[in-house]
Amino acid sequence: MTDCIFCRIVAGEIPAKRILETENVVAFHDLNPAAPQHALVIPRRHIATLDAATEDDRGLLGDLMLAGAEVARMLGCAEKGYRTVMNCNEDGGQSVYHIHLHVLGGRSLSWPPG
Ligand code: AMP
Repeated sequence: MTDCIFCRIVAGEIPAKRILETENVVAFHDLNPAAPQHALVIPRRHIATLDAATEDDRGLLGDLMLAGAEVARMLGCAEKGYRTVMNCNEDGGQSVYHIHLHVLGGRSLSWPPG
């Protein structure tokens, strides 16, 4: 059994409020939402960080972005606006080492992030 929490969500071993599933990605609601709408889009295949992604992952990274846009539409925040974020490593604030695209919406988001 893997100790990666997001691999376990993909495998259905840990529950998640799923929004969207495709051949390559799964999207679900974040457990600790930082905005009224906060979803995560993850690849089914384990990649620890964006820094670990390679040329072979080019299509998969595109799938993540397009699924993020689809999720924003499904959550009803596409028209007003939303933010996609992928944190990388310690200074980027990454806490789960299986890449994930945050999709945040439902309120006006400040910039720059902290
Ligand atoms: P990051 O800090 O960028 O690595 O983001 C990790 C995100 O995963 C955080 O927003 C957490 O709230 C979220 N998270 C951690 N465990 C779970 C879980 N079991 N289900 C849903 N979201 C989770």
